[in-house]
Formats: sequence, structure tokens, C-alpha cells
Amino acid sequence: MLLDYHIHTKRCGHAAGEMSEYVAAVKERGIREIGFADHIYMYWLPAEQRDRGLAMAAEELPDYVQAVLAMRRANPDLPIKLGLEADFIPGAEAALAEILSLYSFDYILGSVHFLGEWAFDDPDRMDEYQNHSIDDLYVRYFRLVQQAARSGLFDIMAHPDLIKKFNFRPSFDLTSLYQETAAVFKEAGVCVEVNAAGWRYPVGEQYPAAAFLKICLDHGVPVTLGSDAHKPELAGEGLDRGAALLRRIGYRQVMRFDRRMAKPVAL
Ligand code: ZN
Ligand code: FE
Ligand code: FE
Ligand code: ZN
Repeated sequence: MLLDYHIHTKRCGHAAGEMSEYVAAVKERGIREIGFADHIYMYWLPAEQRDRGLAMAAEELPDYVQAVLAMRRANPDLPIKLGLEADFIPGAEAALAEILSLYSFDYILGSVHFLGEWAFDDPDRMDEYQNHSIDDLYVRYFRLVQQAARSGLFDIMAHPDLIKKFNFRPSFDLTSLYQETAAVFKEAGVCVEVNAAGWRYPVGEQYPAAAFLKICLDHGVPVTLGSDAHKPELAGEGLDRGAALLRRIGYRQVMRFDRRMAKPVAL
């Protein structure tokens, strides 16, 4: 069964289209269940420093929740989950926990998009890579992902090797970082998201790498699927390919979520 648990809406400031168009697109692709997971507002910054090109405004969160619930009511033939993509910012855990407690989300995607103040996945901030050792960035990134998993704030780790997005590659073999990270995921009880967006970026492969997924399977870490669509025509895209990869690796099920409780379903 194909599901798409990572769909954005135009509230984030860098996505297009109406929510109903995303729903129409996934139905056309035969996706059987979806979740909207728009970017949470930049809760760790003072309101005047929040970038409206990266995420919704704080006052839009209640509207977002209501809009997802309205889409659910309008589409009885397609289960629509209330998700959210939330940035992990070390030191801001309590602020995030408080926001997450306000609504009955079905699941929370945990994302590391920032190293310090740098949004390392933003194409407009790519120059910054020149100021760093790529090896150091990979280690810092994976350690933050581990810390995010351990925080207990998230159900699913989104695009868990996002640091490869622009295809800057480390000089060392990543196996031991993958193993360390998968062990943390298992202990923390989080899922890993197979995210199709990587196929659309310079790296040219899904997140996470097949080698990382295999290690996740060996550790017993469950998976979900997401297109990370920011345009209606990309909703559900690449998930058949993601599911085929999962089967080849040896996964036989994916997780569905309902009010933050996971249940497996055959892949
Ligand atoms: Zn986005
Ligand atoms: Fe993301
Ligand atoms: Fe996203
Ligand atoms: Zn995302």
C-alpha cells in the first residue's frame, strides 16, 4: 500500500497550489492514504526574524490544522492525516513540545534543516559550503539527527541524510555513522522516512541512501514514505520507486499513524 506522509501547502511560502489539487494528484496516482506535513513556524526565533519564505507564520498554524481537517471531511474516500514537519533546534525542545501539545496531530516529522543558523538545504545559502569541511558537516549533521531522535518529540525522521542534497560528499565511508544513527533510531522508537525529493536534487537519489536503509532494516527500524511535494503535480511522485527500493532491501511493511500511534501495513 502506497502512502504519502510528506505533503506541503502554500502556507510555507515556497510551495504552490491548493490543498485540493494535491489531493486530486495523489488520487490519480493510486496513493491510498496521505498526510499533510507543512513546515512548522520558526518557533525558535523572535517573530520578526522568522523567514516567511521558509515556513508559515505562527498565527497560521490553527488555520493549517483546520484546513487539513476540512480536507479530511471533504474526502471520505481517502484517509488524510494531520502531520507537521518540525525543525529540530537543540535548546528549543520545550518550546516545540508546547506547540505540539496544542493539536491532535497524527504524526510529527522531525527534520534537521539547520546547522547553527545556517539552513544548509536552502539553495540560496549554498555558498556557505565553501566555509566548511564537508567531513565535519556530515558528522555534525548525523549527530544532530541522533539528538533529534532521542528528544522524543518526533515520530518519523524526515529525509535522514539531507546533508547530501547538493551532492557534497565526505571523504570517509559513512557506514559507521549509519550504524550509530540506526541504533539510536531503534532505541528512540522512531521511523525513518523514505523521501522521494532527493531524486529531484543534485544528489539524484532518495533520502536516505540504500546502504543506510539496509542498516535501518538490520536494526529493526520501521519506515514511512513521503514525496515532500511542494507542488501538486509532485504529490505522490516517486513513491512507487521508493516502495520498490524498500522491497528490494527487504522491507515488507510501512507504518501508518493515527494520533501518534503507529500501525504496520503491508508494503
Ligand atoms: Zn519546504
Ligand atoms: Fe524538510
Ligand atoms: Fe518538506
Ligand atoms: Zn520536508
